[in-house]
Amino acid sequence: MQYVSTRDAQQQPITAAEAIRRGIAADGGLYVPQSFPAYMPPSWHNLDYRQLARDIFSLYLTDFTPTEITEIVESAYSATAFPQCVAPCVTVGGAQILELFHGPTLAFKDMALQALPRLLTHAVAKCGGGKEVVILVATSGDTGKAALEGFKDIPGCRIIVFYPAGGVSPIQEKQMLTTGGHNTAVVAVAGNFDDCQTGVKRLFADTALQQRMSAAGKEFSSANSINFGRLLPQIVYYYYGYGQMVSSGRIQPGQQIQVVVPTGNFGNILAAYYAREMGLPINRLVCASNENDVLTEVIQNGYYNRRRPFYKTTSPSMDILVSSNFERFLFEMYGRDAQACAAALQTLNETGAVQISAQAREHWQGFLLAGSAGQADAAAAIGSVFKQHGYVLDPHTAVGWQVWQQLPSTLPTLLAATASPYKFPAAVLAALGHNMPAGSAEEQLQLLSRLSGTPLPPALTELQQLPLRHSRQCAIADMGQTVTEILSL
Ligand SMILES: *Cc1c(COP(=O)(O)O)cnc(C)c1O
Repeated sequence: MQYVSTRDAQQQPITAAEAIRRGIAADGGLYVPQSFPAYMPPSWHNLDYRQLARDIFSLYLTDFTPTEITEIVESAYSATAFPQCVAPCVTVGGAQILELFHGPTLAFKDMALQALPRLLTHAVAKCGGGKEVVILVATSGDTGKAALEGFKDIPGCRIIVFYPAGGVSPIQEKQMLTTGGHNTAVVAVAGNFDDCQTGVKRLFADTALQQRMSAAGKEFSSANSINFGRLLPQIVYYYYGYGQMVSSGRIQPGQQIQVVVPTGNFGNILAAYYAREMGLPINRLVCASNENDVLTEVIQNGYYNRRRPFYKTTSPSMDILVSSNFERFLFEMYGRDAQACAAALQTLNETGAVQISAQAREHWQGFLLAGSAGQADAAAAIGSVFKQHGYVLDPHTAVGWQVWQQLPSTLPTLLAATASPYKFPAAVLAALGHNMPAGSAEEQLQLLSRLSGTPLPPALTELQQLPLRHSRQCAIADMGQTVTEILSL
């Protein structure tokens, strides 16, 4: 399988290793596979997660050996990283909830970020010329810690994480600031997530900085969901979730389902779209947003407009105005016309808005729906789902639940649960009718454990004891200077 950039009119193909090593294309586009391989497991019953991951990875990583793929998959989805089932599916009311939060940082980003560093080290060994890889990450909370955990002490890699000061939950911040490892750095930026993300993109495009990097034997790469190595692992769990729906007798093999995904950067739902292209029977995809409903508008009306107020909500990982991965989806909807795709993105970047052509929109109208739910509705969903079913949703998954509830549909539903409620105890407790004074994180966790009747995840109990190891802060304009200092360039 070869990969091309969404903005390259020539469509010059490169290998998977090269696409993963580069992260983003030099023309600012994102790498996509040249085609979608068809895949159907031999049987839907009792799928083994690692076997499934091996099969699907092999179709996309044709320049990796079977031994390499086995190594990557076995260590990424080991019983140490995922002590329980990797991605269990539970029935709650009329939905099947695919729990994607059983990894080391209790959010779905572990599903990809346990695999990416391993993919990247192999990719660099194949085509990187022995340079040290410096990973730059912009995070709205969950990616940062998941990437830090994934890259911590991986030889040949360093990682620098930028997060919006005051824009992540106290637990998310503590998780990041307590990360060990000789190769990790964490920086609080005086701005919001989009500032961090734009800042990181600027660093990737800074040729002077790149020259200094190169002279010092280093090169940048990305662990953000723009890296194809992030997307690939996410395809696997949609197959796995479907298999569990078949195994539990909820659906017949081949029966169409709908997949509901609480969305931010459009990575998670894009992986579901890729699975659909590969033949997984997904009738439709539902993109759920919070108050930051830029995707709802573009999917419903074709108007992509980021000139709008930015809301900080109880689902911070979805507080996003520019969904990077939507570009990959647009590329497909434009019939793989890179020129049209590049032109739309240029208009968006220059003017802050772009009208997507009617022709492109028609392509998604049959299978992609969108809706949004505000914080109050999400909180109400957390309360009512707990009352009716004894199950505690996190605020992100609750947005998905609420949007699903608004849809008229009888299709069997797979809802992606993107975070553990233990990651957002204050918002969850408030939704359950327990308002706690700020600053008592440990009490909040204990109370949530008692209420939900589930044990506290060990990763969180340990967190209380860990010392803070990172304290860097910087202005948006100084991100380049900060990188220069950290790397002693
Ligand atoms: C990152 C994240 C999302 C959004 O996922 P995208 O792939 O960016 O759309 C939703 N929920 C949680 C908990 C997340 O961490």
